[in-house]
Amino acid sequence: MTKGTAKPAARAKRGGNRTGSRIDKARKGPAIITIDRVRCKGCGICVEFCPQDVLQMAGQYPEVVAAECCTQCQLCDFLCPDFAIIVREGK
Ligand code: SF4
Ligand code: SF4
Repeated sequence: MTKGTAKPAARAKRGGNRTGSRIDKARKGPAIITIDRVRCKGCGICVEFCPQDVLQMAGQYPEVVAAECCTQCQLCDFLCPDFAIIVREGK
């Protein structure tokens, strides 16, 4: 019985943390997205997988077309095989 009562409390705690994360995200400044053209091979992975359509290919390289839409999810950063794109929180 003790376990049964503990689970909802734990769930509520986790939910509380998720809510906190959303608030933290909302407090983030605009993203600073840097693309290193020396490292970038122009594969387009970052453009293809960005859920917010922040990036677009411009010739051989991606460019930032909607930085204000970036949620700083870091997906482009994680997926880039060449470590060529970095997303940082703006001040
Ligand atoms: S951090 Fe996320 S939302 Fe921002 S450009 Fe990269 S993939 Fe898109
Ligand atoms: S995923 Fe990396 S290498 Fe590929 S286009 Fe984007 S920045 Fe360039």
